[in-house]
Amino acid sequence: MKKTLILTVAIVFGLALMLGGAPADVQAKTTFVTIGTGGITGVYYPTGGAIAKMVNAKRDMYGIRATVESTGGSAFNINAVMAGDLEFGVAQSDRQFQAFNGTEGSEWAGKPQPDLRAVFSIHAETVDLIASADSGINTIQDLKGKRINIGNFGSGFRQNAIDALEANGLNYETDFMAENLAAPEAPGLIQDGRIDAAFYTVGHPSGYYKEATAGKTKVKFIPIPNADKIAAKYPYYAPARTLMSHYPGAANTEEYVETFGVKATFVTSAQVPDEVVYAITKEVFDNFDQFVKLHPAYEGLTKEDMLKGLSAPIHPGAMKYYKEAGLMK
Ligand code: GLU
Repeated sequence: MKKTLILTVAIVFGLALMLGGAPADVQAKTTFVTIGTGGITGVYYPTGGAIAKMVNAKRDMYGIRATVESTGGSAFNINAVMAGDLEFGVAQSDRQFQAFNGTEGSEWAGKPQPDLRAVFSIHAETVDLIASADSGINTIQDLKGKRINIGNFGSGFRQNAIDALEANGLNYETDFMAENLAAPEAPGLIQDGRIDAAFYTVGHPSGYYKEATAGKTKVKFIPIPNADKIAAKYPYYAPARTLMSHYPGAANTEEYVETFGVKATFVTSAQVPDEVVYAITKEVFDNFDQFVKLHPAYEGLTKEDMLKGLSAPIHPGAMKYYKEAGLMK
Protein backbone atom coordinates (compact mmCIF):
# COMPACT_ATOMS: atom_id res chain seq x y z
CA MET A 1 0.00 0.00 0.00
CA LYS A 2 2.69 2.43 1.11
CA LYS A 3 4.95 1.31 -1.71
CA THR A 4 2.22 1.98 -4.30
CA LEU A 5 1.74 5.45 -2.91
CA ILE A 6 5.44 6.28 -3.08
CA LEU A 7 5.61 4.89 -6.58
CA THR A 8 2.58 6.97 -7.64
CA VAL A 9 4.11 10.10 -6.16
CA ALA A 10 7.38 9.38 -7.96
CA ILE A 11 5.58 8.85 -11.27
CA VAL A 12 3.49 12.00 -10.90
CA PHE A 13 6.57 14.02 -9.96
CA GLY A 14 8.54 12.58 -12.87
CA LEU A 15 5.67 13.32 -15.26
CA ALA A 16 5.42 16.89 -14.02
CA LEU A 17 9.11 17.38 -14.76
CA MET A 18 8.78 15.76 -18.19
CA LEU A 19 5.79 17.94 -19.05
CA GLY A 20 7.88 21.06 -18.64
CA GLY A 21 7.47 21.81 -14.94
CA ALA A 22 10.16 24.37 -14.12
CA PRO A 23 13.15 23.13 -12.11
CA ALA A 24 12.83 23.72 -8.36
CA ASP A 25 15.28 26.66 -8.26
CA VAL A 26 13.37 28.61 -10.95
CA GLN A 27 10.03 27.86 -9.31
CA ALA A 28 11.28 29.19 -5.97
CA LYS A 29 12.10 32.55 -7.56
CA THR A 30 8.85 33.01 -9.49
CA THR A 31 7.22 36.39 -8.91
CA PHE A 32 3.47 36.24 -9.39
CA VAL A 33 1.79 39.41 -10.59
CA THR A 34 -1.89 40.00 -11.27
CA ILE A 35 -3.30 42.48 -13.77
CA GLY A 36 -6.75 43.93 -13.07
CA THR A 37 -8.81 44.44 -16.23
CA GLY A 38 -12.58 44.83 -16.81
CA GLY A 39 -15.59 42.80 -17.95
CA ILE A 40 -14.80 39.91 -20.28
CA THR A 41 -16.65 41.50 -23.25
CA GLY A 42 -14.54 44.68 -23.01
CA VAL A 43 -11.05 45.33 -24.38
CA TYR A 44 -9.22 45.56 -21.01
CA TYR A 45 -9.59 41.84 -20.40
CA PRO A 46 -7.88 40.77 -23.66
CA THR A 47 -5.41 43.66 -23.16
CA GLY A 48 -4.34 42.28 -19.78
CA GLY A 49 -4.01 38.92 -21.51
CA ALA A 50 -1.87 40.41 -24.30
CA ILE A 51 0.50 42.10 -21.82
CA ALA A 52 0.72 38.95 -19.68
CA LYS A 53 1.49 36.87 -22.77
CA MET A 54 4.47 39.09 -23.68
CA VAL A 55 6.18 38.78 -20.30
CA ASN A 56 5.18 35.15 -19.64
CA ALA A 57 6.95 34.14 -22.87
CA LYS A 58 10.21 35.02 -21.06
CA ARG A 59 9.34 33.32 -17.80
CA ASP A 60 12.68 31.48 -17.70
CA MET A 61 14.54 34.76 -18.00
CA TYR A 62 12.58 36.94 -15.56
CA GLY A 63 10.87 34.42 -13.30
CA ILE A 64 7.66 36.45 -13.65
CA ARG A 65 4.28 34.79 -14.01
CA ALA A 66 1.54 37.30 -14.89
CA THR A 67 -2.14 36.44 -14.65
CA VAL A 68 -5.25 38.42 -15.49
CA GLU A 69 -8.34 39.13 -13.42
CA SER A 70 -11.73 40.27 -14.71
CA THR A 71 -12.87 43.22 -12.54
CA GLY A 72 -15.40 46.07 -12.36
CA GLY A 73 -13.04 48.37 -14.32
CA SER A 74 -10.78 51.42 -13.96
CA ALA A 75 -11.70 52.77 -10.53
CA PHE A 76 -11.68 49.30 -8.98
CA ASN A 77 -8.28 48.56 -10.57
CA ILE A 78 -6.66 51.77 -9.31
CA ASN A 79 -7.95 51.20 -5.79
CA ALA A 80 -6.86 47.55 -5.79
CA VAL A 81 -3.37 48.49 -7.04
CA MET A 82 -3.13 51.17 -4.33
CA ALA A 83 -4.23 48.65 -1.68
CA GLY A 84 -1.57 46.18 -2.87
CA ASP A 85 -4.21 43.60 -3.87
CA LEU A 86 -3.16 43.81 -7.54
CA GLU A 87 0.26 44.70 -8.96
CA PHE A 88 -1.04 46.21 -12.21
CA GLY A 89 -4.29 47.50 -13.63
CA VAL A 90 -5.73 48.86 -16.83
CA ALA A 91 -7.39 52.22 -16.21
CA GLN A 92 -8.83 55.11 -18.20
CA SER A 93 -6.50 58.12 -18.56
CA ASP A 94 -9.14 60.39 -16.94
CA ARG A 95 -9.32 58.10 -13.92
CA GLN A 96 -5.52 57.98 -13.63
CA PHE A 97 -5.52 61.80 -13.57
CA GLN A 98 -8.30 62.03 -10.97
CA ALA A 99 -6.79 59.42 -8.65
CA PHE A 100 -3.28 60.87 -8.69
CA ASN A 101 -4.53 64.44 -8.19
CA GLY A 102 -7.45 63.72 -5.86
CA THR A 103 -9.68 65.70 -8.22
CA GLU A 104 -12.76 67.41 -6.81
CA GLY A 105 -15.98 65.65 -7.85
CA SER A 106 -14.25 62.29 -8.39
CA GLU A 107 -14.22 59.39 -5.92
CA TRP A 108 -10.66 60.46 -4.98
CA ALA A 109 -11.69 64.00 -3.95
CA GLY A 110 -9.53 64.89 -0.94
CA LYS A 111 -7.83 61.46 -1.26
CA PRO A 112 -5.04 61.81 -3.83
CA GLN A 113 -3.04 58.65 -4.56
CA PRO A 114 0.63 59.77 -4.57
CA ASP A 115 1.88 56.18 -5.07
CA LEU A 116 0.00 55.69 -8.35
CA ARG A 117 2.45 55.19 -11.23
CA ALA A 118 1.95 55.19 -15.00
CA VAL A 119 3.56 52.49 -17.14
CA PHE A 120 2.22 53.20 -20.66
CA SER A 121 -0.93 54.09 -22.61
CA ILE A 122 -2.67 51.62 -24.87
CA HIS A 123 -5.70 52.01 -27.18
CA ALA A 124 -8.19 54.88 -27.49
CA GLU A 125 -11.62 54.53 -25.91
CA THR A 126 -14.83 56.40 -26.72
CA VAL A 127 -17.75 57.17 -24.44
CA ASP A 128 -20.82 55.72 -26.13
CA LEU A 129 -24.54 55.49 -25.61
CA ILE A 130 -26.63 52.77 -27.23
CA ALA A 131 -30.41 52.42 -27.17
CA SER A 132 -32.86 49.85 -28.48
CA ALA A 133 -34.75 50.99 -31.57
CA ASP A 134 -38.00 50.09 -29.73
CA SER A 135 -37.25 52.59 -26.95
CA GLY A 136 -37.85 55.55 -29.26
CA ILE A 137 -34.56 57.12 -28.12
CA ASN A 138 -32.91 59.02 -30.98
CA THR A 139 -31.07 61.78 -29.12
CA ILE A 140 -29.57 62.08 -25.66
CA GLN A 141 -32.55 64.27 -24.68
CA ASP A 142 -34.87 61.31 -25.29
CA LEU A 143 -33.36 59.53 -22.25
CA LYS A 144 -35.84 61.39 -20.03
CA GLY A 145 -38.17 59.02 -18.22
CA LYS A 146 -36.39 55.89 -19.52
CA ARG A 147 -34.36 53.17 -17.82
CA ILE A 148 -30.64 53.64 -18.49
CA ASN A 149 -27.47 51.88 -17.34
CA ILE A 150 -24.91 54.49 -16.29
CA GLY A 151 -22.54 51.85 -14.86
CA ASN A 152 -21.23 50.15 -11.74
CA PHE A 153 -19.32 52.13 -9.12
CA GLY A 154 -15.91 50.51 -9.73
CA SER A 155 -16.07 51.27 -13.43
CA GLY A 156 -14.33 54.06 -15.26
CA PHE A 157 -17.29 54.80 -17.51
CA ARG A 158 -19.83 55.71 -14.84
CA GLN A 159 -18.29 59.17 -14.38
CA ASN A 160 -18.05 59.60 -18.18
CA ALA A 161 -21.79 58.94 -18.42
CA ILE A 162 -22.52 61.47 -15.67
CA ASP A 163 -20.28 64.09 -17.37
CA ALA A 164 -21.91 63.46 -20.77
CA LEU A 165 -25.37 63.87 -19.24
CA GLU A 166 -24.45 67.01 -17.32
CA ALA A 167 -22.97 68.70 -20.41
CA ASN A 168 -26.32 68.08 -22.09
CA GLY A 169 -28.44 69.41 -19.25
CA LEU A 170 -29.51 66.02 -17.88
CA ASN A 171 -29.39 64.76 -14.30
CA TYR A 172 -29.26 60.99 -13.76
CA GLU A 173 -30.82 61.30 -10.31
CA THR A 174 -33.97 63.09 -11.44
CA ASP A 175 -34.45 62.77 -15.21
CA PHE A 176 -34.61 58.99 -15.64
CA MET A 177 -34.25 55.64 -13.86
CA ALA A 178 -30.53 55.00 -13.57
CA GLU A 179 -29.15 51.47 -13.24
CA ASN A 180 -25.70 50.82 -11.69
CA LEU A 181 -24.86 47.64 -13.60
CA ALA A 182 -21.50 46.31 -14.74
CA ALA A 183 -21.11 46.67 -18.50
CA PRO A 184 -21.34 42.98 -19.50
CA GLU A 185 -24.92 42.79 -18.18
CA ALA A 186 -26.29 45.60 -20.36
CA PRO A 187 -26.43 44.08 -23.89
CA GLY A 188 -28.64 41.20 -22.74
CA LEU A 189 -30.93 43.52 -20.79
CA ILE A 190 -31.34 45.82 -23.80
CA GLN A 191 -32.11 42.79 -25.96
CA ASP A 192 -34.77 41.66 -23.46
CA GLY A 193 -36.26 45.16 -23.23
CA ARG A 194 -35.49 45.40 -19.52
CA ILE A 195 -33.42 48.57 -19.99
CA ASP A 196 -33.77 51.12 -22.79
CA ALA A 197 -30.22 52.38 -23.16
CA ALA A 198 -26.71 52.07 -21.74
CA PHE A 199 -23.45 53.99 -21.56
CA TYR A 200 -20.00 52.39 -21.84
CA THR A 201 -16.44 53.58 -22.47
CA VAL A 202 -14.39 51.05 -24.42
CA GLY A 203 -11.99 50.53 -27.34
CA HIS A 204 -13.30 49.25 -30.68
CA PRO A 205 -14.16 46.73 -31.80
CA SER A 206 -15.41 45.21 -28.54
CA GLY A 207 -17.35 42.04 -27.77
CA TYR A 208 -19.79 44.21 -25.81
CA TYR A 209 -21.06 46.14 -28.85
CA LYS A 210 -20.90 43.08 -31.08
CA GLU A 211 -23.19 41.32 -28.63
CA ALA A 212 -25.46 44.35 -28.25
CA THR A 213 -25.92 44.77 -32.01
CA ALA A 214 -26.22 41.09 -32.96
CA GLY A 215 -29.58 40.24 -31.38
CA LYS A 216 -33.21 40.38 -32.50
CA THR A 217 -33.78 43.82 -30.95
CA LYS A 218 -32.25 46.50 -33.20
CA VAL A 219 -29.77 48.68 -31.34
CA LYS A 220 -28.54 52.13 -32.27
CA PHE A 221 -25.58 54.31 -31.26
CA ILE A 222 -26.81 57.74 -30.08
CA PRO A 223 -24.43 60.71 -30.58
CA ILE A 224 -23.24 62.59 -27.48
CA PRO A 225 -23.34 66.32 -28.30
CA ASN A 226 -21.24 69.09 -26.75
CA ALA A 227 -17.90 67.25 -26.86
CA ASP A 228 -16.10 70.61 -27.26
CA LYS A 229 -17.73 71.91 -24.11
CA ILE A 230 -16.79 68.73 -22.23
CA ALA A 231 -13.17 68.86 -23.47
CA ALA A 232 -12.91 72.56 -22.50
CA LYS A 233 -14.12 71.83 -18.99
CA TYR A 234 -12.04 68.69 -18.30
CA PRO A 235 -8.36 68.42 -19.36
CA TYR A 236 -8.55 64.65 -19.87
CA TYR A 237 -11.38 64.48 -22.44
CA ALA A 238 -11.11 65.02 -26.19
CA PRO A 239 -13.78 65.03 -28.94
CA ALA A 240 -13.89 61.66 -30.73
CA ARG A 241 -15.87 59.59 -33.24
CA THR A 242 -17.09 56.02 -33.06
CA LEU A 243 -16.91 54.31 -36.44
CA MET A 244 -19.99 52.31 -37.29
CA SER A 245 -17.98 50.02 -39.61
CA HIS A 246 -16.95 48.10 -36.48
CA TYR A 247 -20.56 47.07 -35.86
CA PRO A 248 -22.44 46.16 -39.06
CA GLY A 249 -25.36 44.95 -36.93
CA ALA A 250 -26.04 48.44 -35.50
CA ALA A 251 -29.17 50.24 -36.76
CA ASN A 252 -27.11 53.35 -37.67
CA THR A 253 -26.75 54.27 -41.35
CA GLU A 254 -24.18 57.06 -40.85
CA GLU A 255 -20.43 56.42 -41.02
CA TYR A 256 -19.73 57.50 -37.43
CA VAL A 257 -21.32 59.08 -34.36
CA GLU A 258 -19.79 62.07 -32.56
CA THR A 259 -18.76 61.77 -28.93
CA PHE A 260 -15.70 62.25 -26.72
CA GLY A 261 -12.98 59.90 -25.55
CA VAL A 262 -10.09 58.94 -23.31
CA LYS A 263 -7.23 56.44 -23.47
CA ALA A 264 -6.73 53.10 -21.82
CA THR A 265 -3.56 53.19 -19.70
CA PHE A 266 -1.52 50.63 -17.78
CA VAL A 267 -0.87 51.59 -14.15
CA THR A 268 0.97 50.26 -11.13
CA SER A 269 2.15 51.31 -7.69
CA ALA A 270 5.45 52.89 -6.57
CA GLN A 271 5.67 49.81 -4.30
CA VAL A 272 6.02 47.37 -7.21
CA PRO A 273 9.73 46.54 -7.79
CA ASP A 274 11.56 48.26 -10.68
CA GLU A 275 12.72 45.00 -12.24
CA VAL A 276 9.14 43.69 -12.58
CA VAL A 277 7.88 46.89 -14.25
CA TYR A 278 11.02 47.02 -16.41
CA ALA A 279 10.53 43.43 -17.64
CA ILE A 280 6.90 43.98 -18.63
CA THR A 281 7.64 47.32 -20.34
CA LYS A 282 10.61 45.87 -22.23
CA GLU A 283 8.73 42.81 -23.46
CA VAL A 284 5.75 44.84 -24.72
CA PHE A 285 7.94 47.45 -26.48
CA ASP A 286 10.68 45.15 -27.79
CA ASN A 287 7.99 42.89 -29.29
CA PHE A 288 5.73 45.75 -30.33
CA ASP A 289 4.84 44.35 -33.79
CA GLN A 290 3.70 41.12 -32.20
CA PHE A 291 1.86 42.94 -29.39
CA VAL A 292 -0.24 45.19 -31.67
CA LYS A 293 -1.51 42.14 -33.55
CA LEU A 294 -3.08 40.72 -30.39
CA HIS A 295 -6.23 42.91 -30.57
CA PRO A 296 -7.83 44.87 -33.46
CA ALA A 297 -8.30 47.87 -31.10
CA TYR A 298 -4.50 48.43 -31.27
CA GLU A 299 -4.61 49.09 -35.02
CA GLY A 300 -2.49 52.14 -35.88
CA LEU A 301 -0.99 52.34 -32.38
CA THR A 302 2.63 53.60 -32.23
CA LYS A 303 5.24 53.40 -29.47
CA GLU A 304 5.11 57.22 -29.22
CA ASP A 305 1.31 57.07 -28.67
CA MET A 306 1.93 54.73 -25.77
CA LEU A 307 3.87 57.43 -23.94
CA LYS A 308 1.05 60.01 -24.22
CA GLY A 309 -1.94 60.50 -21.94
CA LEU A 310 -0.07 59.64 -18.73
CA SER A 311 -0.63 61.95 -15.77
CA ALA A 312 0.82 60.02 -12.82
CA PRO A 313 4.66 59.87 -12.71
CA ILE A 314 6.17 57.14 -14.87
CA HIS A 315 7.33 54.19 -12.77
CA PRO A 316 11.18 54.12 -12.57
CA GLY A 317 11.25 50.56 -13.93
CA ALA A 318 9.42 51.71 -17.08
CA MET A 319 11.51 54.88 -17.27
CA LYS A 320 14.70 52.82 -17.24
CA TYR A 321 13.50 51.03 -20.38
CA TYR A 322 12.30 54.21 -22.15
CA LYS A 323 15.73 55.82 -21.63
CA GLU A 324 17.60 52.70 -22.79
CA ALA A 325 15.38 52.48 -25.88
CA GLY A 326 15.83 56.21 -26.63
CA LEU A 327 12.10 56.83 -26.29
CA MET A 328 12.66 59.37 -23.51
CA LYS A 329 15.53 61.56 -22.42
N1 GLU B 1 -13.22 51.71 -19.70
C1 GLU B 1 -14.00 50.75 -18.98
C2 GLU B 1 -13.98 51.06 -17.50
O1 GLU B 1 -12.95 51.28 -16.92
C3 GLU B 1 -13.55 49.31 -19.21
C4 GLU B 1 -13.43 48.98 -20.68
C5 GLU B 1 -12.91 47.61 -20.97
O2 GLU B 1 -13.02 46.72 -20.13
O3 GLU B 1 -12.35 47.45 -22.07
O4 GLU B 1 -15.01 51.08 -16.90
